[in-house]
Amino acid sequence: MTSTRLNKKIADAGITSRRKAEQLILDGRVSVNDKTVTELATKVTDKDKVTVDGVVITKEEPVHLLYYKPTGEISASEDDKKRETVIDAFDDIDARLYPVGRLDYDTSGILLVTNDGEFTQLMTHPKYEMKKTYRAKIDGILLRHQQDEMRRGIKLDDGMTAPCELKVIRDKVGKDMIVEITIHEGRNRQVRRMFEHYGLKVNKLTRIRFDFLTLEGLKEGDYRYLKPHEVKKLI
Ligand code: URA
Repeated sequence: MTSTRLNKKIADAGITSRRKAEQLILDGRVSVNDKTVTELATKVTDKDKVTVDGVVITKEEPVHLLYYKPTGEISASEDDKKRETVIDAFDDIDARLYPVGRLDYDTSGILLVTNDGEFTQLMTHPKYEMKKTYRAKIDGILLRHQQDEMRRGIKLDDGMTAPCELKVIRDKVGKDMIVEITIHEGRNRQVRRMFEHYGLKVNKLTRIRFDFLTLEGLKEGDYRYLKPHEVKKLI
């Protein structure tokens, strides 16, 4: 019988991502055959009884959703301050769903939502370089040479940004600007920080593309199931 690392087993059951599963283990919330384990290298087989917070985990059918996140929702499954989270939109779906990566509270657009740990790993791990396009309304003007600099990579607090694509959609000379920026990194508030680097505030930010997926046919707050061929194409 094949054995699997404990964090993968938890992620595969749709509880959370592999990385967060490691934290559950370290926090002593996981037990195998009624014994708490905190050793990350623990391996289990299908015969082992694994519980998280005392609840036995079972593998769920994988669910993959494309959500048009509105602004004003937290990208998490729960919030300590009891604010609305993106998962509240899926009350009618009986699965342990969580968002794939995150969008800021003030950012709208494509957010994938799933219970599939393997899928999450593939969509978020930096080595897979998933391309994400954001449409940003900038309060001010990013000058030509700054645009070129941004395309090549700029130095932020957490290091250089990778080369990106940048397209000016509207340039209201001297006033504001709408640009589309495509990045494959997923650092915290990256797009906003890239413009802040030039003293520019992003007034509106929408993720309009995730790899080949777009918001076509969806209104804010709507979601749809990904088609099997779309999931295949993504992974
Ligand atoms: N970059 C940001 O600044 N915010 C997001 O929500 C996503 C990318």
